Amino acid sequence: GKKALLIDGKAAQAEVLARVAAEAALLKQKPGLAVVLVGEDPASQVYVKSKGKAASACGFLSVQHDLPVTTTQAELIALVQSLNVDPAIHGILVQLPLPKGIDASKVLETIAPEKDVDGFHPVNVGLLATGLTDRALVPCTPAGAMLLIEEAAKALGRDISGAEAVIVGRSNIVGKPMAQLLLARNATVTVAHSRTRDLPAVARRADILVAAVGRPEMIRGDWIKPGALVIDVGINRIPGEGFRPDGQPKTRLVGDVALQEALEVAGAITPVPGGVGPMTIALLMSNTLRAAKLAAL
Ligand code: NDP
Repeated sequence: GKKALLIDGKAAQAEVLARVAAEAALLKQKPGLAVVLVGEDPASQVYVKSKGKAASACGFLSVQHDLPVTTTQAELIALVQSLNVDPAIHGILVQLPLPKGIDASKVLETIAPEKDVDGFHPVNVGLLATGLTDRALVPCTPAGAMLLIEEAAKALGRDISGAEAVIVGRSNIVGKPMAQLLLARNATVTVAHSRTRDLPAVARRADILVAAVGRPEMIRGDWIKPGALVIDVGINRIPGEGFRPDGQPKTRLVGDVALQEALEVAGAITPVPGGVGPMTIALLMSNTLRAAKLAAL
């Protein structure tokens, strides 16, 4: 049958980064991004490194603070407070998860809202929830997903306004802010979660289906309305076939959507990898640029 349009998150990322770099070059002071990593979680190390690389590529000042796993909450808060008053720094990102014993919400609430480029501070959450999207710093993953939705809707000739949007997942990082963004674009929004009754039937109502669950390939082809726009936020590592040169079993990344099945039904879909993932970093740079511009006003 007819195959879904594959939405290219890598190409969209490159576009956003090029625009951010061009705009940053016009500023008197370069945007400054500080990334704070506590402990040695390997996945977090990879994320932090790629954030620093992207910041440098955009012409930003990029500062990384590596703290030992023994860091206390008070020490971490003191570092955030010093970054809050550092005029060279416009964006502060504390990489999650934090080690046990540190209350992440206490730390995130210490970040000055105007430097909160992850968009997790209650002030930014509140601005987004009240529809003040032009003043809020919006969480990077749903903001990136929203750009891909806009691009794909345009390519398919569809309106977001009035569309049925179903988001599977209600986390503060992805599901809830995604719902706010779609609501702000006048979609009719349903947020599903682990207690939702008959999830396949709810999903099948969606013109725009966003999966942010963290369960490999949970969403099957027959959960998808024919022609729907499907955004797969999930990043799940599962066993692959065969072994790596070092003898370790191979692994591979899959999304929350069964991609091969979905390709037969959907109108457009973001692949994993190469879909929403690359957009997260691009939107982090875009948020840092915005924070720097607002600071210069
Ligand atoms: P969370 O674990 O915080 O939230 C998962 C949500 O899915 C919860 O609301 C949960 O419901 C719901 N859920 C879990 N199981 C089911 C089920 N069987 N049926 C229906 N709903 C279910 O995850 P995140 O939102 O942080 O992340 C979601 C996915 O997105 C993950 O794969 C993560 O790796 C990926 N991710 C990707 C990013 C990127 O692209 N850069 C960034 C952030 C996340 P309940 O609330 O009832 O428990």
